[in-house]
Amino acid sequence: MNEDTASVSADEHRDAASPGDAASAYEHEVKALLREAGVPVPRGVVVRDLDFGPAAELAEPLVLKAFGPGLVHKSDAGAVVLGLTSGELPAAASAMAARVPAPIAGFLVEEQAEAGVELIVGLVRDPAFGPVLLAGLGGVWAEALRDTALRLCPISEQDARAMLGSLRGAALLDGHRGSPPVDVDAVVKLLMTAGGPGGLWERLDLGEFELNPVVATPSGVVAVDARHLPGPAAGPPARPAAGPPGDLLPLFEPKAVAVVGASTTRPNFGNMFLGFYRATGVPLVAVHPTASEVSGVPAVPSLARADVDYALVAVPAERCAEVVRQADGVPFVQVMSGGFGEAGQPGLERELAEAARAAGTRLLGPNCMGVYCPRGRQTFVGGGTGPAGSVALISQSGGLAGEVIKVGERRGLAFSRVVTVGNSADVTPAELLRWLARDEETRAVGLYLEDPRDGRELYAALLEADLPVVLLVGGRSGQGQQAAASHTGGLVSDRRIWEAVAGQSGAALVTSQDDLIGVLSFFQAHGSRVTTGDQVLVVGPSGGASVLAADAFDLAGVRLDPLPDDAPEALRGLGVVAAGNPLEVPVGPMGRAGLVPEVIDALVRLRPYRDVVAHVNVQAFFTYGDAAEPLYAYTRAVAAAQDALPGIRITLVTRNGECAPAGVDDEVRRIAAAAGIPVYRSMEAAAVAVAAGGRYGAA
Ligand code: ADP
Ligand code: MG
Repeated sequence: MNEDTASVSADEHRDAASPGDAASAYEHEVKALLREAGVPVPRGVVVRDLDFGPAAELAEPLVLKAFGPGLVHKSDAGAVVLGLTSGELPAAASAMAARVPAPIAGFLVEEQAEAGVELIVGLVRDPAFGPVLLAGLGGVWAEALRDTALRLCPISEQDARAMLGSLRGAALLDGHRGSPPVDVDAVVKLLMTAGGPGGLWERLDLGEFELNPVVATPSGVVAVDARHLPGPAAGPPARPAAGPPGDLLPLFEPKAVAVVGASTTRPNFGNMFLGFYRATGVPLVAVHPTASEVSGVPAVPSLARADVDYALVAVPAERCAEVVRQADGVPFVQVMSGGFGEAGQPGLERELAEAARAAGTRLLGPNCMGVYCPRGRQTFVGGGTGPAGSVALISQSGGLAGEVIKVGERRGLAFSRVVTVGNSADVTPAELLRWLARDEETRAVGLYLEDPRDGRELYAALLEADLPVVLLVGGRSGQGQQAAASHTGGLVSDRRIWEAVAGQSGAALVTSQDDLIGVLSFFQAHGSRVTTGDQVLVVGPSGGASVLAADAFDLAGVRLDPLPDDAPEALRGLGVVAAGNPLEVPVGPMGRAGLVPEVIDALVRLRPYRDVVAHVNVQAFFTYGDAAEPLYAYTRAVAAAQDALPGIRITLVTRNGECAPAGVDDEVRRIAAAAGIPVYRSMEAAAVAVAAGGRYGAA
């Protein structure tokens, strides 16, 4: 665009548009801005009085476009003509004026860019996660192709390249069927100008924008259309920059706990919690207006009289604020009761948060089950606490957290801290994550979320977290969303944004509770192991299961590379034919227990594998043999291999485990766990975990 266009002032052209309306910036105005920012746009001139003289200095062929307040999709309105000479402009303009239904404020004449690959580059502001950059294959096909990549701003150059690489049509950029490759560096530069540090996304006055198309050729890029979209000009709601998280230790390890709301006549949730707490042995007091004891626990008449650092409130929603006002001096109050924002009562929730602030207490919830921490004698599940461990969980659903605790412990997980947040009126998942990431006892964190209200802060916390994080998001499909909205009182943002959040932060995004537990189990078992390899070896009995294993890993995004060239020779002595990866070896009740470890040992000498996945068909042990001992012997041998090879991670898959008598599975798991080996019942579950472990290693 030449000076004629760039110097056009916005006001001059606002005659037809409503002044001050951010949405009404015309294409040439947006392009002037882009040009200033360093985005290549075509040279052009603006013509308002049908005097096309100034267009003579432009190089033909020319493009004629009309602009006006109601002209949004110009081609649809017949307001774009390509391939003109300057002599043809006046007639083309008259014809355009006759056919375009909307009022025309003027014409933009610009040089026609040479043909190339048409891309779309846009910036949207997600209500939870803020500015998100989109890049895709586009032009007129953008919507039909839906081939786009998303990243939260600011993006890095590496992000920009990864975005382009992830497009299904990425090959078009590299030169497809004889066409020369486009200038990918120029595309990357444009993406950085739009979404990189200090990029256009930070110019809040620009709101949302879309460059469609950007034409990429071997000699560069040019944005031939630019649109400014109405949107929240200031981006996501401004939040104060997060300081260090508060000291959250008393949440997990309170010195003494008060329970408000237990009844002497009709047992309720409060009484249930008194029971849970009596079982853990934490010093306990009940708060009751009249009784001196509730369910055998001494009672005081007011929270103000309880010398505790954690109080659980289970009274009706309307009375919660009043109770919290008496919490003066209690560092943490958990409001278990529901009936706030999630039930269409945002006023009650604000009042509650206000009461907590006034009392100088931090608020967990409302509408949340609370905290589970074996070493802190904290719990919200029956049956006592399990072993103290190193896995933390933050959950927006109390019910799901209870399931993950119980099922996870059954499968060998041991928790450091579990916290449910409910409506997060004060303490948020982001603050908890930042605290847990610094916690000495925690080595991996699972997150179950439905509502990313503090999305930007959560993203910042994820970027900062220096430990494995496993993310399960409920309601990412349209159908789940309704359930989630009625559940926690917020909307879940698009699945693709969560994928971007996970991709950029290195968190493992999983799609089921089983995988949440499975991936956490992997990090619990292998977390501290430093591996140098980058490839995965699968070893197990021959047959369809081995073939399907390759597919399961492929689906999880893990390539199983062929065995090293010298593998056949190395394995010949062991009587194993090194046909491929998955490697088929005799494993069963008649086989030698030590064979698999010997094979692993021989192969890791040739190549430093990152992960070795050993699988067995449990059913074979009990159909052709009659005792569990051969299976235990095999497991012990694999465990010994892990002990001998600390630089690789061994994972065990016990397929068809239900064919073993009760208890066998537990014993296999126990033997494996002692050596730091996670055990999965299906190849699919193992593949997801190994893939997540590999991505974390790479990040
Ligand atoms: P619309 O408002 O319909 O999106 P555009 O400005 O994008 O209008 O123009 C429509 C199409 O015309 C573009 O997708 C592009 O293929 C082509 N085009 C527009 N301007 C130019 C230009 N300066 N050089 C080359 N092609 C152009
Ligand atoms: Mg366009």
